Amino acid sequence: MGVCPKCGNNVQARKLLRLTNLNTITCQVCSSKLRVKNKNFNSTIGGVGGGIGGGLGTLLLIFWIQTGNNLYIGLSVTMFAVIFVLTWLIANKYVELESENPEGMIRQG
Ligand SMILES: [Zn+2]
Repeated sequence: MGVCPKCGNNVQARKLLRLTNLNTITCQVCSSKLRVKNKNFNSTIGGVGGGIGGGLGTLLLIFWIQTGNNLYIGLSVTMFAVIFVLTWLIANKYVELESENPEGMIRQG
């Protein structure tokens, strides 16, 4: 769960969805700019999720081409959705946030 290091607020999941290693999100409570602290972990989760999804998705597409069975297309789409959600949930659970200004030089108001 992404927690704001300044005010302890749980950052909304849908905000975390937009958070990558390259951008920041704004805390809805204290307006701090937050970025990913454990970037390596975030990259790993994204890579593993993408790798598994891409690998299995390709495999199912090959089955579909070979068999012509639309079941495999359904499975492929379902699997992408499931892996996307799982990756998101895992990233949400373990992501750590830090303020863009760790020294706390900028004060609101
Ligand atoms: Zn905050």
